[in-house]
Amino acid sequence: MNPLDFDTSQVFIGGVWRRGASGQTLPLVDPSDGSSLAEIARGTPEDVDAAVQAAQGALDGSWGALTATERGRVLMKMSALVLDQADELARLEALDVGKPLRQGRADAVALARYLEFYGGAADKVMGQTIPFAHGYTAFSLREPHGVTAHIVPWNYPMQIIGRSVGAALAMGNACVLKPAEEACLTALAFARIAQLAGLPAGALNVVTGLGEEAGAALAAHPGVRHISFTGSVAVGTLIQAAAARNAAPVTLELGGKSPQIVFADADLEAALPFLVNAGIQNAGQTCSAASRILVERSVFDAVVAGMAERYRALRVGPALTDPDVGPVISKRQQEVVEGYLALARDSGLHIAAQAHLPADLPALGCYVAPTLLADVNPAHRLAQEEIFGPVQAVIPFDDEADALAIANGTPYGLVAGVWTRDGSRALRLAKKLQCGQVFVNNYGAGGGIELPFGGVKHSGHGREKGFEALYGFSVLKTVAIKHD
Ligand code: NAD
Repeated sequence: MNPLDFDTSQVFIGGVWRRGASGQTLPLVDPSDGSSLAEIARGTPEDVDAAVQAAQGALDGSWGALTATERGRVLMKMSALVLDQADELARLEALDVGKPLRQGRADAVALARYLEFYGGAADKVMGQTIPFAHGYTAFSLREPHGVTAHIVPWNYPMQIIGRSVGAALAMGNACVLKPAEEACLTALAFARIAQLAGLPAGALNVVTGLGEEAGAALAAHPGVRHISFTGSVAVGTLIQAAAARNAAPVTLELGGKSPQIVFADADLEAALPFLVNAGIQNAGQTCSAASRILVERSVFDAVVAGMAERYRALRVGPALTDPDVGPVISKRQQEVVEGYLALARDSGLHIAAQAHLPADLPALGCYVAPTLLADVNPAHRLAQEEIFGPVQAVIPFDDEADALAIANGTPYGLVAGVWTRDGSRALRLAKKLQCGQVFVNNYGAGGGIELPFGGVKHSGHGREKGFEALYGFSVLKTVAIKHD
């Protein structure tokens, strides 16, 4: 079965779809039932080199010749086409990632919104005039890096492509995109959309393939002048080391063990859906998943009971049936999550609730029962390590200082949520929490693409999303002219 109306086993280089240099392919598997979905090209270092050269050619040619306004218009056209095809893109993501249809559609709408936002912003990024010595005029220019690499994971392909490729194109860079080997279909569909919208050849190139092969070649390529990487801490470290050899700047968006902190004075009914959704959305495979729920002791039992009720009502099933929770991405990921659940049982952790897995789920699907663990010691591995599955640990705390120490007490620092009616406390915590985003009385702000996003500590560095990304995807040049 080929779910696209074109050959998925090709790379997209210099505006041309073609076989990869090796002629080899890799299988894509539908995690909902284990069936074979399509073949993708196994890109090689040779393909990566051709893609970098094509990107450089676009910068030296028709793409580099466009004005910022013209670049913005192309992005706007891409945005409109993505919206037109949102249902089809959601279907591809359901097949490829196991993402429930509603979530896939929301990702497609977010991709369109990124392209719209960055299309509109393309001609609104300005340098400054700088007050300087008599007889001089000094000013700064914002210029593209040149060829940018975009190495993305499988969990939110469309959103991550939107926020990194969208911003990079807006600033006039030419992109080489390496999607994850587990999920490539929407990246390939995105390239088709770019072509249809009239994006000049070479401005966007897509090389599918293995991380350690195509990904590593891209990260190490001397022609790449900026790398945007979203993925695991382990691979992020390799990417940064490779980039260092070429003195290329890197944006790293890595994992997390993000907390939501619930105080006794919070509106608990308002909080409950956010507490659960932020743990089970995309089967827990979200970098900013709230995998730790910290609850003030006096309302601990009430919050656990409220969350447990919601867990028991969760519908788990194949992505195309649009369940609350679909499969995880692969058998390998299923084994990882089940390993953590076995550890929870072996350590005698209290399982407060587990969603029901229907008996008629496809036998080869990668399903994991969403699991709520209560009263977890903050030092336990289940409360420290990123599981990347639908598992949440609820942890009691005594007071604000205790909550802060637990919240900051992991190697990660991506996102945090605070639920309280005490405005002073919310502000104090917003300043003291070690992370890149804090949400008060909500979590995620609906994905707000306008809100700069990124981590501290092992969650990475650099910011994507919002206007801030446009600074990251450009270089500041200073000009000082002596005229008197
Ligand atoms: P991963 O690091 O294994 O893979 C991510 C990408 O890197 C893929 O495209 C892969 O092919 C590529 N890659 C793998 N090895 C490589 C190498 N040696 N050189 C170059 N590229 C290589 O991560 P994953 O398992 O796909 O994704 C899960 C992780 O990503 C989790 O830790 C999650 O938290 C993180 N993540 C973070 C964010 C964020 O914005 N902070 C978003 C999504 C996922």
